[in-house]
Amino acid sequence: MQLYNKLSAEERAELIDNAGKSRLTLSFYQYAKIGNPQIFRDHLFLTWDPMEVLGRIYVAHEGINGQLSLPADRFNEFKSHLDTIDFLKDIRLNVAVEQDNKSFLKLKVKVRNKIVADGLNDDTFDVRNKGVHVDAGKFNELIEDENTVLVDMRNHYESEIGHFKNAVTPDVDTFRESLDIIEDDLKAHKEDKNLVMYCTGGIRCEKASAYFKHKGFKNVFQLEGGIIEYTRQVKEDQLENKFLGQNFVFDERRAERISDDVIANCHQCGAPFDVHTNCANEACHLLFIQCDNCKTEMDSCCSTACKEIHALPFEEQKELRKGQGNSNDIFKKGRADHLPYKKDLRNIFDVLKTQKEA
Ligand SMILES: [Zn+2]
Ligand SMILES: [Zn+2]
Repeated sequence: MQLYNKLSAEERAELIDNAGKSRLTLSFYQYAKIGNPQIFRDHLFLTWDPMEVLGRIYVAHEGINGQLSLPADRFNEFKSHLDTIDFLKDIRLNVAVEQDNKSFLKLKVKVRNKIVADGLNDDTFDVRNKGVHVDAGKFNELIEDENTVLVDMRNHYESEIGHFKNAVTPDVDTFRESLDIIEDDLKAHKEDKNLVMYCTGGIRCEKASAYFKHKGFKNVFQLEGGIIEYTRQVKEDQLENKFLGQNFVFDERRAERISDDVIANCHQCGAPFDVHTNCANEACHLLFIQCDNCKTEMDSCCSTACKEIHALPFEEQKELRKGQGNSNDIFKKGRADHLPYKKDLRNIFDVLKTQKEA
């Protein structure tokens, strides 16, 4: 019995190519009470591996959060299996806007303490007391209301390449940080404003809306299914799309284009551009925005220092990295000081706040 993935990413990519089947990329989550996450995890792996499911699934006592892809012709089989599990029966599956056969290259089902690393102590508030779920149509209406404050619950590198018109986009690296900033900036409006929030697939708002209600906000709304489901509904019901740019996603595709607007800039030359790159220097891997010209000029690197290291023979690079561990830059995600055109989103937030108060 094989409980874990044994193939390398390259071997997987080759298998997918050879199979020649189109795959569906989708995501879902559910808060639930899972008694033994390890047994549940093994059950999922043993059922999904033969169905050729690939992806990243987190299982915890508090529920499940999955992003995955599978052959389109096995979808019904997969759905039937979900329906056999009590808390996953008829669950909404967020299907990706852009399909890419290689969005995931392995099946990883992991047991975690939490399904989202939200940094919250859930014992201090009632996570079931959530905000009002709204669909795309109601959301469009709400965000036109002058009594609404629209808040992006994602991190700065996500909102930088795409967000809803007029959204407040906190300059944060983590979900936990954003909660305090938002509460502080809006503390005068806990009762008189609609606090409307959104995230990628809706999961972060499940917790955030309960948290803000606990903190005294009276009118809390959340976009059900997040940007992914919004986009699907906008297309299906031919509603006006109010999302600008790209939706950052956490798989190999990195983003899916929702509108043609390019709202970000190359971090090196400032030209309008909204595609992320990982610095080619193996010891850096900084995630940043780099236009095609800069990519050529800088050899896909984030700095001249990285470019010089990247140009060395591989063995010498390895020698240099010895004992150094990974650079912290990976986690700065586009905020390294040497990038002149990185956006300071906190300023945008302040500007919006001032506009609202004026
Ligand atoms: Zn550039
Ligand atoms: Zn670099």
